[in-house]
Order: sequence, then C-alpha cells, then structure tokens
Amino acid sequence: MSHPLWAPWRMEYVLGKKQKGSCVFCVDEVAPDDELERRLVVHRTERALVMLNRYPFASGHLLVIPNAHVSQLEDLSSDDHDRLFRLVRETVVRLKRAVRCEAVNVGLNLGTAAGAGIEEHLHVHCVPRWSGDTNFMPVIADTRVVPQALDDTRKHLASFFGDLSLDSPDE
Ligand SMILES: [Zn+2]
Repeated sequence: MSHPLWAPWRMEYVLGKKQKGSCVFCVDEVAPDDELERRLVVHRTERALVMLNRYPFASGHLLVIPNAHVSQLEDLSSDDHDRLFRLVRETVVRLKRAVRCEAVNVGLNLGTAAGAGIEEHLHVHCVPRWSGDTNFMPVIADTRVVPQALDDTRKHLASFFGDLSLDSPDE
C-alpha cells in the first residue's frame, strides 16, 4: 500500500484503552441494540462481527473481529478462522457497494511491532481507497471526533449487510 496503517491520533485510543482494562473488541453476545450502536457495530454473525473504526484512516474504515479474544491467527480455531475470513470477504463486497470505493486495503497488524494499536484482540482492517486519496487523510483527521458522522456512517454501512444471515454466509 502507499502508506502504512498508522495515524498519530491512534495514540489517544491506545492509551485510553489501557487505562480502562476492558477490551474494546469484545462485545457481549447478548448486548442490546443500543450498546451495539454505541460501539459502532455494523453487523454480527455467530462467531465474528464488523465494527466501524472510531479512529478511521478513511470514512468507512471497517474492522472485522472474531468473537474469540486472541492476539494471533494461530490461536483461532480453524472454524473461527474460516468464519472470520468469510466475513472479511462479505465485508469487502459490501464496502465497495456502500462507499463506491475504487479499491480496498485488507490487512492485519499482528503484534505491537507490526503496528497493532490493540494487539490483544486481532482484527482485520478493511479500508476503502480512492485514487489520489492521500490528500484526503488530513480531512478525515479533522472529522474523526464527530460522533454524529460516525453514527450516520454506521447506519449507512449496516444497511448494506441486511441480506447477510446471522451465521456464516456460505451455509
Ligand atoms: Zn477482546
């Protein structure tokens, strides 16, 4: 990719999270809708979920997260691994439709040295891209803290997941 998955404002996120002690990517299976909305969950399946990144690299930056609180791919069961990456595929398809991007970066930062902000719970970044969008990043940095914008984006993206069943999409 043309630039790394890194942004200075992520530091607030990392430091804030460590003070709290609870995992930002673990979502209770019986969490009510208002909690899912507050935590920017776009879609859930039985073993994984899609969450809007609160500190995005681009508008529509999604995270696909297994329910299992593990830091490494090899710590996921084969079944959870398969379900996670089937959801990644479905997410990329829907992201292209929802934000009409030209391309998508899909990637994992496994471990702090690889740039993971939250290393203890692995997550797959799906970042929409447009030609020449490097100029677009400073604009996003200025809008990142507007909760209403995030909520509107979440609703818009969620509407593109309505056809996806709760369980794995291939079954
Ligand atoms: Zn977790």
